[in-house]
Amino acid sequence: MELKRTVKQAIHSANTLIERARSQHLTLAVTGLSRSGKTAFITSLVNQLQQGNTPEHLPLFDVVRERRLKHVRQVAQPHLNVASFRYLAGMRNLTATPPKWPEPTKTISEIRLELTFKAKSNRWLSGSEPSKLLLDIIDYPGEWLLDLPMLNLDFQQWSEQQWHLLEQPPRKDASADWRQQALALLGREPCDDAIHECADHYAKLLKEFKQTLGLSLLQPGRMLMPGDMEGTPALAFFPLPEQCLLDDAASKALWHILKARYDYYVKHVVKAFFKRYFSHFDRQVVLVDCLQPLNEGEAHFREMQQAIGQVMNSFQYGEQSWWQQLFDPKIDRLLIAATKADHVTIEQFEPLTNLVEQITEDARRYASFSDIKIQSQALASIRATKFGHVQQGKKTVPALKGNRISDGQSITLFPGDVPPGLPSPAFFEQHSFNFVAFAPQPRQSDYAPLPHIGMDKAIEFLLGDVLK
Ligand code: GDP
Repeated sequence: MELKRTVKQAIHSANTLIERARSQHLTLAVTGLSRSGKTAFITSLVNQLQQGNTPEHLPLFDVVRERRLKHVRQVAQPHLNVASFRYLAGMRNLTATPPKWPEPTKTISEIRLELTFKAKSNRWLSGSEPSKLLLDIIDYPGEWLLDLPMLNLDFQQWSEQQWHLLEQPPRKDASADWRQQALALLGREPCDDAIHECADHYAKLLKEFKQTLGLSLLQPGRMLMPGDMEGTPALAFFPLPEQCLLDDAASKALWHILKARYDYYVKHVVKAFFKRYFSHFDRQVVLVDCLQPLNEGEAHFREMQQAIGQVMNSFQYGEQSWWQQLFDPKIDRLLIAATKADHVTIEQFEPLTNLVEQITEDARRYASFSDIKIQSQALASIRATKFGHVQQGKKTVPALKGNRISDGQSITLFPGDVPPGLPSPAFFEQHSFNFVAFAPQPRQSDYAPLPHIGMDKAIEFLLGDVLK
């Protein structure tokens, strides 16, 4: 009797395991600041899963190494009001002559894959059905996460903070005209058109901060990537100077208009994004381009470091935090990846991984308390260079070979040393990093998987345990 019950229980547990494996669903979110490599990463991820199914190509991805991955197909995405991630368009660019990079992320988008695999747990059951995993991959701009602190600030506090930033270098000179325009609105009957124009100018200013000054701490984040909010009053706001300048009725009226828009934005855009999406993410990838800011100098590097710190704040949700209480997020794995590792020579991978670890150190320390598994690594989603050597005097030094994006010219260069940790001011004075944008390599055939560095390690961390 006892034995019968034990056998029955064992069969029940085995069936539950199999059922769970059969009907698994995972939402994987990918973010990073603009140009950090999100589109390239997702394009490569889909491509590796669909076309890279050989142990030689993905040696660290267990389900492939053990030849248990049967089939991966794209299926209809679940949300009808979210843009589709256009994988095929990206692949067309990569296959063009000459090859081009896919179009970068502009807004949130998603793609759903169905993975059919042989689970280890049902291997021993003859005739057992293969298991399935529904994988939703969500791409969203990291700039949107930079709005997170706005949830804790009212319009006045936010205005003071932003106005203070605008009056300091490196924003001071570039913002002088805009500040004049904003001050000129004070003391006058508010005119909606003039407010919109000032907001448009503010949006241009934020874009200029990003593109010309390489700054990353820019709010509101949707002004940089407005998507379907372009031109709406919800985005037509900007910070106002200190209260003391606003003591007449007309200025107060302007204040109230902007405050109402700010409140709407925080509630219906920022909060809604976190509530609607964040609470459904199971796993998160944060991509960091450390190399371009290293190339551009100390101010850019520090700004990127601060911005990534803020992005990472979104994942610092200990049990007690307001954040946890508000959104109840359930991310259990976080991959932090330094992208474009094909821009450095092989012996620089370790320093690059150390660097990204240190940039995100505070957040990682915190997250380790809240049951999130974290992996930091360097990777190249789509490898555009080959390793080689160049002669420097009598010495042979490691080098990279690739086609320069600006003119398609094949070049060989030593890019410089990545600092082994956070660079000191002296590093920027003494070293230079020669970051050259490379074009993707021509593809050997339409069926050849995209060349990569480290994607197998990343995919194993993100999916390996559910494909067991
Ligand atoms: P997004 O704005 O985060 O979506 O950035 P993208 O994925 O569009 O990448 C921006 C640019 O970075 C691309 O156009 C490429 O020039 C470069 N890039 C991205 N990933 C890689 C990579 O793995 N290797 C190399 N060499 N360049 C990359």
